Amino acid sequence: MTPQTDPAERFRRLIRDTGPVPVARWMGESNALYYASRDPLGAPGDFVTAPEISQMFGELVGLWCTDLWRRAGSPVPIRYVELGPGRGTLAADALRAMARHGLVPEVHFVEGSPALAALQRQAVPQARVHGHLADLDGSAPMLLVANEFLDALPVRQLVRTAEGWREVVVTLDDRQDFTFAAGAQPMDAALPAERADAPVGTVIETCPAAAALIAEVAQGLCRSGGAALLVDYGHLDARTGSTLQAVRAHRRVDPLAHPGAADLTAHVDFAALAQLARRLGIGAVHATTQGVFLESLGIGARARALSAAAPARAEAIAADRRRLAHPEAMGTLFKVMALVAPGWPVPAGFQEELAA
Ligand code: SAH
Repeated sequence: MTPQTDPAERFRRLIRDTGPVPVARWMGESNALYYASRDPLGAPGDFVTAPEISQMFGELVGLWCTDLWRRAGSPVPIRYVELGPGRGTLAADALRAMARHGLVPEVHFVEGSPALAALQRQAVPQARVHGHLADLDGSAPMLLVANEFLDALPVRQLVRTAEGWREVVVTLDDRQDFTFAAGAQPMDAALPAERADAPVGTVIETCPAAAALIAEVAQGLCRSGGAALLVDYGHLDARTGSTLQAVRAHRRVDPLAHPGAADLTAHVDFAALAQLARRLGIGAVHATTQGVFLESLGIGARARALSAAAPARAEAIAADRRRLAHPEAMGTLFKVMALVAPGWPVPAGFQEELAA
């Protein structure tokens, strides 16, 4: 890699020339480079996602969509929209399950990475791939799905210092290594009044890109009908503290060590997104853990059916179910949130609405 193309060198030069960069810019530019150039999923890559663990995940999402669509009166045309579909595995499994039950939607993907868009076209040839959600017109109701998409969007961090609130930035230390610091600019006006009075050292993370996206989704649902199913590592209550993390070759690494070559994520603040969706007219916001969602949609029955068809794989199938749904694996860390358009039915898989 030449100094011009090495992302670390580019960030170093940028910081020397124009000053420290906000964490949001570091994360946004690192991830854009990271996803543009590679397929990060699966055993030889950097991380594994639920649909890559087992077909059961996508199939149950497909059944969730079909059930909701039927109870909404089976409107046609209807769209399956997926944000950041990775290799297209979730969509392929979900669409197969939908077709088996009479739902054959138009398929639209929103994907920023040319490398992954190419894989998605192979997995789901009928999909139309868009760069942005706004590229879709609102002419039909949508069943929108996003798994591990929101956690890749850049977060902004604010830290309470003795002098007041500052943005967290990335700068260079004496040895020219990247390090976090508090920016020079006062940021007190960016804090909601009720959060402004936190102790020195408190970090508050927000994700303006996720908020902008959820606003678009909520407006689209209110205009055209449908529902959105958002699955991610995150929390259902308001929190403080940095959740920025980096993964490379299935290991946690320093988020400043490999810009453009490690997957940077942050926990999704579902509470903030739910509040925003409600403000924009989404009456019903449902949320639960991935484990509760998959178990109540019948992952147990699906695992038994798959095992009966392939007895030699029974142990592997049981292990996959455990990994997806058990509280000590992905079952509790991952949350599922559904936003439902006004007039659409209560979705399956949730015990109750998220309290406002
Ligand atoms: N949903 C897939 C992949 C998750 S990885 C799965 O569960 O396996 C994150 C996905 O979001 C990738 O497809 C990545 O290219 C895409 N992505 C990340 N940031 C994006 C952005 N800002 N705009 C569009 N797509 C983005």
